[in-house]
Amino acid sequence: MSDTEDQTASFADLGLGDRIVKTIKDLGYESPSAIQAQTIPHLLAGRDVMGLAQTGTGKTAAFALPILDQLDLSQKTPQALVLAPTRELALQVCEAFEKYAANLRGVHVLPVYGGQGYGVQLSALRRGVHIVVGTPGRIMDHLEKGTLDLTELRFLVLDEADEMLNMGFAEDVETILADTPSDKQVALFSATMPKQIKTLSQKYLNDPVEIAIERKTRTAENVRQRYLMVSYPQKVDALTRILEVENFEGAIVFVRTKNETETLAEKLRARGYSAAAINGDIVQAQRERTVNQLKDGKLDILVATDVAARGIDVPRISHVFNYDIPTDTEAYVHRIGRTGRAGRSGDAISFITPRERYLLKHIEKATRSTLEQMQLPTVDAINESRLSRFDDQITAALESPRIEFFREVVGHYIREHDVPEVDVAAALAIAMQGDTPLLLEPEPEPERRPRYDDRGDRGEKGGRADRGDRDRGDRGPRDRAPRGGGNFQTYKIQVGKRHRVEPRQIVGALANEGGLDRRDFGKITIRPDYSIVELPARLTDDQWERLKNTRISGKLIELAKDYGPPNRSRKPKD
Ligand code: ADP
Ligand code: MG
Repeated sequence: MSDTEDQTASFADLGLGDRIVKTIKDLGYESPSAIQAQTIPHLLAGRDVMGLAQTGTGKTAAFALPILDQLDLSQKTPQALVLAPTRELALQVCEAFEKYAANLRGVHVLPVYGGQGYGVQLSALRRGVHIVVGTPGRIMDHLEKGTLDLTELRFLVLDEADEMLNMGFAEDVETILADTPSDKQVALFSATMPKQIKTLSQKYLNDPVEIAIERKTRTAENVRQRYLMVSYPQKVDALTRILEVENFEGAIVFVRTKNETETLAEKLRARGYSAAAINGDIVQAQRERTVNQLKDGKLDILVATDVAARGIDVPRISHVFNYDIPTDTEAYVHRIGRTGRAGRSGDAISFITPRERYLLKHIEKATRSTLEQMQLPTVDAINESRLSRFDDQITAALESPRIEFFREVVGHYIREHDVPEVDVAAALAIAMQGDTPLLLEPEPEPERRPRYDDRGDRGEKGGRADRGDRDRGDRGPRDRAPRGGGNFQTYKIQVGKRHRVEPRQIVGALANEGGLDRRDFGKITIRPDYSIVELPARLTDDQWERLKNTRISGKLIELAKDYGPPNRSRKPKD
């Protein structure tokens, strides 16, 4: 596979001013996306543009940057109007404008959407705004009321045009287009190109440049794609845990910014991995050296940005990690194409923070593939893998030609000191291991006292005794009588609606970790912050241990027996 987009232009090459280029650089954008590279020069040249590109390809900056670049800050009436389908999208676009205008002084951007009082909008309009971003309905209202003066409008953008039409705004959009100065510049951005949009653009755009960015969405079938739900601070730990249990040879870890490549590579080195950073700031020759080291096995992990990793072709790369999930599905396809090369199979593991779930959906939709959810490796799994690597080291050393020499040395010791051979071997292991423990400590058990029970009779660590009848009176009307012939007990786990768990995930995770069967599950009630699960009253110590260390959606479930609401007067609502 050859990758041809190496000759990417820079933002400065597109003709944008220095301040904007600097802002973009500060934001960590390394180079323009395809839609940006192809539309910005035309927009700067004053042409009407119709831009078609998938979601997440950076369409906002494609119109926001050239508009900001051309603003006349002394003009008090609105110069730019962006129409967006929803209040959320309008707010997002406003935020983007503000972000991109960080180094420009006194740019005023106003969101205008339904549901917000007119007062704020009117007083802002009176003070003067340069850019208005709004939903078509509310903009129409203002036009009808005469409260929005668009007589000096210079730029009009239809953002997410397909969505706007889907939502029934066609008429409003047309009215607005027709009621604004005819010499304004119009840009239409859309993810798809239904006929309606074609018609609209023929009617209202003046000889537009049409740019369509082709979808690049094929993902290789020999790459297994998985994802892990993690919170941002968990990422480093999650990565090292996964590296411990995955059978990896070489890996690329993708991060969003250049700075992050350096800091993460450093953290990995501190944990004993041979890792290096590559990013767009590192000179080409050095980047090539680093990639060659990965090829030769002198280096195992590259921490990279998209730009720096473009086109890397190293068959040794068994794993690609999306430490930061790309916002652009094309980048995703590109990234995971770094593994599974030369007919090998590969693994792609993506970290998704709860707020990024929508990106997972985009990726799955755009690549027409489903990513498997994975769980954070447990301490047991890590220890198992450490022990087997330890065994492998012994096996490998036994085959070394140097074994003869050391057999003599050790044999001498044994004869002199009269100690069992296995003790000597163990002592050598200690010498080899140094101060680093071979195994991880089990994760601390979260101490959860039943909140209303202070009578000190909690002698059943491990939770094997059914607390039975004594407590039943305290439970109020809620029927907690165990099913399954009196063998059920209610347990509480610290994942709930907020963590977007579903019963099947709970059953799946608990069944796997605790060796439970479907019949071992009673009722499952998902609450906002936690869930109540009926499980066998008698769990073995081992099951209990493993269940406690179980994670769902990356969160430790902190399994504990549930003793109902703390106060009987509060009626549990079921
Ligand atoms: P679209 O409108 O095409 O769906 P957005 O404009 O919302 O996409 O951009 C998606 C994300 O990509 C945003 O988080 C934005 O900050 C980021 N982004 C945009 N352009 C670039 C770029 N050139 N480099 C890196 N990230 C970018
Ligand atoms: Mg958009």
